[in-house]
This record gives sequence, structure tokens and C-alpha cells, in this order.
Amino acid sequence: MTEWETVIGLEVHVQLATASKLFCGCATRFGDPPNTNVCPVCLGLPGALPVPNEAAVRLAARAALVLGSAIHSRSIFARKNYFYPDLPKGYQITQFDRPLATGGSVAAEVPAGGITVGITRLHLEEDAGKLLHDRFPGLTAIDLNRAGTPLAEIVTEPDLRSPGEARAFLNALKELLLYARVSECSMEKGSLRVDANVSLRRSGTTVLGTKTELKNMNSFANVERAIEAEQSRQRAILEGGGAVDQVTLLFDPASGEVRPMRSKEQSHDYRYFPDPDLPPVAVAAETIVAERAALPELPEPKRRRYVEHLGLSASDARVLVADHTIAAYFEGAVGAGAPAKVAANWVMGEVMARYHETASLPVPPQALAELIGLVESGTVSLQAARKVFAELTDAESPAAAAARLGLIQVRDQDALVSWVEAVVAAHPAEVGRYRGGEGKLLGFLVGQVMKRSRGAADPKAVTILLTATLSESPNA
Ligand code: ADP
Ligand code: ZN
Ligand code: MG
Repeated sequence: MTEWETVIGLEVHVQLATASKLFCGCATRFGDPPNTNVCPVCLGLPGALPVPNEAAVRLAARAALVLGSAIHSRSIFARKNYFYPDLPKGYQITQFDRPLATGGSVAAEVPAGGITVGITRLHLEEDAGKLLHDRFPGLTAIDLNRAGTPLAEIVTEPDLRSPGEARAFLNALKELLLYARVSECSMEKGSLRVDANVSLRRSGTTVLGTKTELKNMNSFANVERAIEAEQSRQRAILEGGGAVDQVTLLFDPASGEVRPMRSKEQSHDYRYFPDPDLPPVAVAAETIVAERAALPELPEPKRRRYVEHLGLSASDARVLVADHTIAAYFEGAVGAGAPAKVAANWVMGEVMARYHETASLPVPPQALAELIGLVESGTVSLQAARKVFAELTDAESPAAAAARLGLIQVRDQDALVSWVEAVVAAHPAEVGRYRGGEGKLLGFLVGQVMKRSRGAADPKAVTILLTATLSESPNA
């Protein structure tokens, strides 16, 4: 049996989070009626001239910074010529032999350990329009709202060795780009797209095998599935003594299979040449300094800080940091005085449950910190605090909500004594057995007192008082 090694390189397109397009002032908003955000430039009308969007260049530079890529002070826009109905100019403006940035790497975690994935290049380009096949029966319509939207294309080295590694890399890349606020990175909205290049070679050899390119995956899970399917397909060909054709394949999410594109769609002769309408892209040293200074703390150093300075476990740190909104919320609660471990438990429990349910955060982190303070001081029980949390609104403080719900713990001695006495009187059999040596009945009796107080009694105080009462001589 031959052992095969899988080799994968990814090409990732992310939409840069600008308000307007790469070469004109049209809006990049998602979901507007078709062909409403268009102008002579992005429609490719003769004589219209492109003007580069500085914000897009700055976001691409920021992406390059978080990947550790070298940003080139001058890069060149080139025309990639091909005919397709979604491309009104007949060419796409992209970067070819002089990209904005080269080099860099992304670290990711797989069950077997850490991997480092080399970045080949990052370049700027414009998106094409969108063909709509389900709008009019028997016809294809064209929406050019997307045409001219700024993209960064990020190309990896062929460093990935399994479908799982590809997925882990994508998660890490997305996390970085979200932290840097470069892109929304939503595959559903088309602001992140992935093409996967896959080949196999005999284990222990170093020459790359012939690759195929997979397209049309609409989620990271499907990128993984598509590569799995292609891995098996290529292995069957190679083990049968055949050779893999270098083709582009489309993934079909319904069947989980890949199928070849029509060969007409993959004839590549793009006749690249520098765009004569556009000057070189210049990124000033000051821009890089400013962008670097504006970067937030990135996921990796943040996880390390949570472990080393806040005393969290590595897995808690991973969960909290995975979403920058959650991490900011957690830090808000800690900043407002909540102990880190306690705050972490609340955020990973109640807060994230609510966040996933409603897609929004409940109360401000300061309110959570205040609620945690009420538990720490023994004013409310942990159980009661969960009830308070569920009811909290911006309009009411945690203490006020706890009072309104009657959940402030009673440690008033008179009230406790009367509940304890009532329970002792109501359960003579259990009291007798406890006194006879069945110590485990204490829990039952504490529970009865808690029930009688409707949860308002402080269980610690109840335990102390009950123990004292029961140790007195029955006839005293
Ligand atoms: P192309 O010219 O076909 O676009 P590139 O050399 O530009 O190919 O590489 C595109 C992507 O494919 C990169 O991510 C690269 O790492 C990856 N790649 C290149 N060769 C292979 C191979 N033999 N197997 C797997 N991935 C590869
Ligand atoms: Zn336009
Ligand atoms: Mg290429």
C-alpha cells in the first residue's frame, strides 16, 4: 500500500470593509436592489477613469501587517483580460507581478499541535458582478452592485497537509482579519471566498504532484469536505496507475462531490499588462507606522495574556478570544472589578448563550461585574444571580433587579431561626435519624429550609444554624 501525502495551498479573497468601491464612489452595501450602486467607472463605460480608494489600500496594508507580510512601497495595478458577462470592462483590475505585499505566515492549531502556514502574497483587486440564474425563468440576469468592490487576495504557500489543517488555517486567518477590522469575513454574504489547490504525492517525496483547483465552497466546513472528496478522488486515480489532470473542479454541497468545470471556462490566457489608467500604488512609511499603531491586541498575544496574567486555562482563553466581541466584553467585566476566572465562567456560560441566541450582547459588562460582586459578597446566591441575569435590562441595576425578584439572601438571624425551627418541628423522623448518626440527612433538612424561604435564605448560614440547633439536646 502506497502512503500518500496531501498538499494544499489556498487562495482566499476577502472583501475590504470600505464604504465605497475600489475605483469609484459607489457604495459597497450588501443587499441593495440590483444595479443601484453603479456608475460609469464600475459599469466600464468608455472614457470613464478609475481613481484608487485610499481606504482600501490602507485596509490591505493592515491585513498584510497582521500576516507579517512585507509591504512594498510601490506596487502595480494590472489588467487581467478575459470575457465573461459579469465583467463589463472585459478586464479585471488586479495586481500581478508587483503585488502590495509578500511573505508572512499564519499560526493555527490542529488536534496534533500547532502549524505555521506561509503566506506567498497579498494583492489588491476589484470584484466582478454577480450573475443571477433564479431571477427570471430561463434567463440569466446581471447585478453589477458588486463590480468594483475592493478585495484582498491572500495566497498561501502549499504548506497545508490535510483538510483539517486547511479549515484550522481559515479559522485563524478569519480571527486575525476580524480583530484587525479588515473585513467582515462572511462566506454567506460573499465577503470571504476560498479556492483550494490540492495535489497528492508519495509520502517521503518532495516534488509537488499535479494540482487541481476547487471552487464553489460556501463554508469552511465545505472547504474541508471538498478537499476530502478530492483527496480520495486523486488517490483512486494514482493508485489505479493514472495521472491527475490539472483542472478546475466545482464542489457540489448537496452530493459532497467535485465535478469538472466546462473546459471553455478554464482556458487561461489573461494577457496581463500594467493598467495605463492607474499610477503605481504607493504606501508611505508613515501609513504603515500609523496602521501598526492602530492595531488592537491580536488573538495570539491576547490568549497568552489571559493565561499568564489572568490565570485562565488555555481552553478558556481560546473560547473567549475566538470572538473579539466576546473578548472585549470579558475584558470589560474584569476591568469593572470582576475576578477573571469568575467572569470567564459567566461569559462562557450565560453571556455566550444569550449572544448566540439573540446575536447581541445582553447588559453592559459593568452590570455583569456588579452582579458577580453581589454573589461574591453573599448578597445573592449563584443560582439566584442566574435568575437575575436572565431578567437584567439596561434600565435596572443588578441589585435593584435582585431586590425586585425577592432574591436578596436573608441572613437576618430571626428569620433564619423561625424557618429552621419550623423545619425541625415538621420533620421529627429525619431529625431523629440525623441525631442517631445519619449525618447525610443534614442536606435534606437544609434543602427544606431553603424551600421554606423560597430560596432567599443564605445556605451557608442555614447550615451553620441547623447544625447548631440539631446538636442541642432534644429535651432542652
Ligand atoms: P496557478 O498559477 O495555477 O494559480 P500558483 O503557483 O499561483 O498556481 O499557486 C496557486 C495556489 O496553489 C497557491 O496557494 C499554491 O500554494 C498552491 N499550489 C501550487 N502548486 C500546488 C501543488 N502542486 N499542490 C497543491 N497546491 C499547490
Ligand atoms: Zn461605480
Ligand atoms: Mg495563481
